[in-house]
Amino acid sequence: MIKKLVIANRGEIALRILRACRKLGIETVALYSTADKTAKYVKLADESVCIGPPPAKDSYLNISAVIAAAEVTSADAIHPGYGFLSENADFAERVEQSGFIFVGPKSETIRLMGDKISAIEAMKAAGVPCVPGSDGPLGENYESIQEMADTIGYPVIIKASGGGGGKGMRVVERAADLTGAIKLTRQEAGAAFNNEVVYMEKYLGTPRHVEIQVLADEHGNAVHLGDRDCSMQRRHQKVIEEAPAPGISDEVRAKIGARCAEAARVINYRGVGTFEFLYENGEFYFIEMNTRIQVEHPVTEMICGIDLLEAQLLVAGGDPINFKQESVNFRGHAIECRINAEDPDTFLPSPGEITQFHMAGGPGVRVDSHAYSHYVVPPYYDSLIGKLIVSGPTRDQALARMRGALQEMVVDGIKTNLPLHRELMQDEGFTKGGQDIHYLEKLLAQKSAS
Ligand code: ADP
Repeated sequence: MIKKLVIANRGEIALRILRACRKLGIETVALYSTADKTAKYVKLADESVCIGPPPAKDSYLNISAVIAAAEVTSADAIHPGYGFLSENADFAERVEQSGFIFVGPKSETIRLMGDKISAIEAMKAAGVPCVPGSDGPLGENYESIQEMADTIGYPVIIKASGGGGGKGMRVVERAADLTGAIKLTRQEAGAAFNNEVVYMEKYLGTPRHVEIQVLADEHGNAVHLGDRDCSMQRRHQKVIEEAPAPGISDEVRAKIGARCAEAARVINYRGVGTFEFLYENGEFYFIEMNTRIQVEHPVTEMICGIDLLEAQLLVAGGDPINFKQESVNFRGHAIECRINAEDPDTFLPSPGEITQFHMAGGPGVRVDSHAYSHYVVPPYYDSLIGKLIVSGPTRDQALARMRGALQEMVVDGIKTNLPLHRELMQDEGFTKGGQDIHYLEKLLAQKSAS
């Protein structure tokens, strides 16, 4: 069991981790940059340590400072949250070598899943469906690559094995452009990720983003906690998430979930993790695994009644999962709106002082936010200031609750995307459910054109 935990993150997830620790009786050490010095969650923690100036590279991404903070406070574990160092295998390795528990999988698992080609190979071996493609790196024999693309069928997408954050990808519509696209993607990948390895996949035209949540312990147990639909995206950033994914039958969900749980066992996974899929014409295609807690984890918590942070901390401390797959029941529907400090039309960040902050409430309404009246949103980090999550017995009832909750929420002094969420909750297509990953961008393009 973990006794004292360093929270190596900031914002709403730092608060969420802190809440889970309180429930479990784990002491907390908040780390903060000078820009977050006055944040309330920093004061709520048992101890706090300043790890550097505002720029993330000098604070939240400073591996030595994070490890030193764990050493001086005699902590026994480090939680990386999401973003920042959470999927950095070198960091996880340093944490392990320094004798601390890394709240996440082993560093070698992060490394395996961090490289897209090795991740796809591991998933194929474990029986997880992947996108038809080159099954490995593209070589220099462009004639055989052309033949491969013909077999896969155009359009294809060239992807950097070391890529991330939606970068290092290029769609190719026709044979004449293939060789040039591969060479260009190689060059860009070399410059951006210091890794020129690229591979090819079939480009799916209108997929949905559906992901599976898993939980695994180091005693060989793994369960899945259902799916989430995160297709409402702008520039590959998720805006709204929901669980379960609309229009997917319980049978299909159970089948893909079981595959993922099995894959987690095969790769000796530990902790919470997410298998991300593109879903098109009733088929799942694995694209990548996130080896950490995700922003959208609350929608899963709301429908299966499992505290994912608590579960994550318990298995990190060596506990076995204390329930079986059969006892996981999904109830109702949950929706999450990410509230960002940004202009709802231009999407430009809008940091500054929140003059008034009023949360929504009532049955089935949850707000995960570190913000409050007079909180100053710093300009240095991600614009997420909180998440509004609702649940209801049916999707329609969850939608109705979200509309009401969005009316109640007040965030004054800065601009937020609350007006956009209010519009989307009335949008016919979104209300219908099951839209593809291009839906929101198309809607926004229409809006700005009119
Ligand atoms: P990253 O690690 O950079 O986020 P992903 O492999 O997760 O890269 O892909 C990011 C996004 O790119 C996906 O959510 C999807 O929108 C698009 N994408 C990736 N692969 C394909 C594909 N084979 N067909 C269609 N779209 C794709």
